Amino acid sequence: MTAHIDNITVLGTGVLGSQIAYQTAYSGFAVVAYDISDKVLEEARARFGALATRYEDDVPGASGGRAQSALARIRYSSSLADAVRDADLVIESAPELLDVKRELYRKLAPLAPERTIFATNTSTLLPSALADATGRPDRFLALHFANEIWIRNGAEIMGHPGTSPAVYDATVEFARRIGMEPIEIHKEQPGYVLNSLLVPFLQAALSLVVNGVADPETIDKTWRITTRAPEGPLQLVDIAGLNTVFNIAAARDEQGQANARYIKEHYIDQGKLGRASGEGFYKYDTPPQVRVRTQSK
Ligand code: NAD
Repeated sequence: MTAHIDNITVLGTGVLGSQIAYQTAYSGFAVVAYDISDKVLEEARARFGALATRYEDDVPGASGGRAQSALARIRYSSSLADAVRDADLVIESAPELLDVKRELYRKLAPLAPERTIFATNTSTLLPSALADATGRPDRFLALHFANEIWIRNGAEIMGHPGTSPAVYDATVEFARRIGMEPIEIHKEQPGYVLNSLLVPFLQAALSLVVNGVADPETIDKTWRITTRAPEGPLQLVDIAGLNTVFNIAAARDEQGQANARYIKEHYIDQGKLGRASGEGFYKYDTPPQVRVRTQSK
């Protein structure tokens, strides 16, 4: 079956779901935004409005009506059957809980047309942990976006062993059509490519601080000077947020747990949560205004 992707349904209109739906509509597609109640969808409407404003500020060419007109391509629905009845591609961005996602796929399976591709935006689960619940494992894979997708526009595409190559290719092509740079991953990997690199890197930097090897400024300076990267690892920790980094560290080995204790004692317990709070490893004059909710994982 060749995949012809025109109609997109996004399940979940939270932090990432709203961005995926809006970016897709902004790229000219008809989008249905599904969430569990009309009340939640009212919040989503406000979030989409805020995103339009954000695009006007950040995206060249978005002002002058383009960002606002994208809003008209989004239809809202709190009925799963109605939301997916015409979908070529369903992108699931529901809470990062295995049981919630599996239950959603079980409900979705008989409601969506046979041709529909299902893609999950999960950050930490493997597609193979969800595949059987979809009822169509060959048409299921992960399409993983980054927060603030209009700026950080890499989309990681990762199947499981049963994903059809044609479905994979169609998803890569779709990612390109909505302005993403597709990052093709050929084998299931927890953390995809980005977090497989980033998590150990940030933890290594934290270990150097915790073990008294060098101070944060020295570590960051070393990285910037020697690789010509714009930011060092502890600057990146401040951007990701100390809570997120704490959660990841606490789930790792003994050194990771020592890192987590250190971050909690020296930063989190003192309200230093990173760039969003105005202070983390570094002080920031003006904390950036948070216009869309951010998550703490
Ligand atoms: P969120 O909590 O902001 O949003 C989740 C949304 O799903 C809410 O609107 C909620 O009402 C809705 N929801 C709850 N139950 C549902 C159901 N049964 N069916 C459909 N929708 C349901 O979460 P988020 O941060 O947007 O994360 C969503 C997914 O995106 C997760 O899988 C997460 O790992 C992934 N993700 C998040 C980020 C990030 O930085 N926030 C980045 C990449 C990927």
